[in-house]
This record gives sequence, C-alpha cells and structure tokens, in this order.
Amino acid sequence: MRALTVVPQHADTAALTDLPDPRPDDGELLVEGIAVGICGTDREIVQGRYGWPPPGHDRLVLGHESLGRVRHAPPGGDFTAGDLVVGVVRRPDPVPCGACARGEFDMCRNGRYTERGIKELPGYGSELWTVETDYAVRLDPKLERVGMLMEPASVVAKAWEQVDRVGARSWYEPRTALVTGAGPIGLLAALLGVQRGLDVHVLDLADDGPKPAAVSALGATYHSRPVAEVTDKLHPDVVIEATGVGRVVVDAMGGTAAYGIVCLTGVSPGGRTIPVDAGATNRELVLENDVVVGSVNANLRHYAVAADALAAADPDWLAGLITRRVPLGRFAEALTARPDDIKVVLTLD
Ligand code: BGC
Repeated sequence: MRALTVVPQHADTAALTDLPDPRPDDGELLVEGIAVGICGTDREIVQGRYGWPPPGHDRLVLGHESLGRVRHAPPGGDFTAGDLVVGVVRRPDPVPCGACARGEFDMCRNGRYTERGIKELPGYGSELWTVETDYAVRLDPKLERVGMLMEPASVVAKAWEQVDRVGARSWYEPRTALVTGAGPIGLLAALLGVQRGLDVHVLDLADDGPKPAAVSALGATYHSRPVAEVTDKLHPDVVIEATGVGRVVVDAMGGTAAYGIVCLTGVSPGGRTIPVDAGATNRELVLENDVVVGSVNANLRHYAVAADALAAADPDWLAGLITRRVPLGRFAEALTARPDDIKVVLTLD
C-alpha cells in the first residue's frame, strides 16, 4: 500500500512510500483510508520543525485527521465492515501519569504520550491502516464527505469544555463569544458556539472569499478589523483564540468582559517578540477575575461531543470548509498552503 511519509526533524523529506499492508492485531480494525485532513502541524512536520518517528524507524507515516471505512472488524464487537470511522490521535503515556490512567490522555502530565502521525506512532495517511477498537469512533454515515473534520472538531469540543469548567467556578451565563482566526479550528469553534446559543463573532484578516461566507452562513458575525477595536465594542465573555499570533493573543486577553475566559488553541512558533504592557495585562486579569487557559488535543469524551456536533450541523456548510481535495499521488500540492484555503484534504481512495 502507499503511504505519505516523512523523516521528522528533516525538511522536505515528504514522499510516497510503499509499505506492506498492515495486519490488524486482536482487538483492532483494518480500515480503508478515505481521506486525511492536512493542518498546520502536518506542514510543520514536513518543514522539519516538529514530529518524532516510531522508535527504531527513520520515517513517520503522516496524517492525524483521519477518515476511513472498516474493512475488517473483530467478530462480536461494536464495529462492522462498512462502518465510517475516525481514529483517535493520542495514546496514554506508558507510566501512566494520573491523567492518562483516568482516560484524560489529552492532559498528560509527563509528556510521554504518543500521537498517530505526529509523535512515535504511524499516522493515518495511508491507503490502509489499523486502529484499536477502543480508539476508533464511529461516524454518522452522512458524514462521509466531511468526517475528516472530526479531529479538529474534537480539539474544539475540548476547548469549549475547558471554558465551561473554568466558568463553573462562579455564576456563569456567557452571551458573547469572539473567535479569533477563521481557519478550520476557528470556524468549528464558531459552529459549536452557535450550537450553544451564543452570539458568535469571528475575526480574521481575510476580507473576502470563503471565510466571511462561512461565518455568515452560520448566523455569526464576521470582522476583519484589529482585535482591540472589535473587543472594545463587544466585550466578549469568551474568546476562543485560534491564530497563535502574539499580538492577537495579548489583545484578546486584555479585551474581555469581566470574568472573561480566553481559551488558547493556536500553537505558535517561538522567536518573535512584541512589546507588551505586562502590568496592564496583569491588572486587567486580576481586577476582572479573568482566566486564560491553554487547550490541546482531545480525549474520547471530546470525540463523542464532536461527533454529535458534526451530525447536528448542515452537511453542506461542513463541506464548504473543505476548499481543496488533493489525491494522494499529488500530495505536494496539499502540503502547500494557499491564501483561500480553509481545510485541504488528501484523498486516499
Ligand atoms: C493536533 C493535536 C495534537 C497537537 C500536538 C495538533 O495539530 O490536532 O491532536 O495533540 O497537534 O501534537
């Protein structure tokens, strides 16, 4: 079978590799890949700036935003051939730490977790893959075109859960949410915000193209203005930050309503410095009981919430987030970002 592989920490090594067909162990599914979504993390890995191969190997199979169809399932279990499934990204650390021992591997404390397609485990960017039934999630059959949005949706479901849990420390009835960044994470965060009945605003640099259209189709409001200008008007109760851009992060932290919660989901490169009035930011956070919380990855609970959120969404709106579908043989095109991209997917069938 063909797989998209890279040598992690070495730039421009992405290649199609012929690998033996995987054989499922007991308790595993054999899955025919339909597609994998490509995100910033994949591009970072391809640029040699992130990622780890499985121990004893040079190359890593790329791809963590999976979607496939079960070819073979263990008899008598929860899955049958033909089911539409995604595989979970992270696995618990081997110790395990207290969080991993309780199924909260997304909150791993010792950093020894592994991740399919990112850290020490083969990804899902191959024509066939296997996955443990305990780490496979079945999708509504109507999500066949868009199910590779499940993984980013699970990341967003976790972010909203963090907001709820932080909010629950006192009286909390949020009304206004600002999402910074209209990439897949931002737009899915907006979707879940709208599903929660919030007045959702989305901010991005683009002033035309598919992003503003996707936001208004949700019934949310699109802004292409500096963050501080937007927060001065809105005073959002919640900010879901999905750009990872330093200026946006700092301005969002300073721009919430009292008891504001900023959830950071963007992974930024280090090395860029900006002037920050740390005293003013501190004063704002203290005097308003504000919270800034970082959030990464997702556990099985979040995948379940994400599956429900996607099943409740308009399938045509979800399909509109996928702005390019590139066949595996032309993978290099998928790895190069274009200005009008929202989600690029690599098709495997
Ligand atoms: C993935 C997460 C992963 C993180 C860090 C993100 O792109 O969506 O599942 O935990 O990268 O490796």
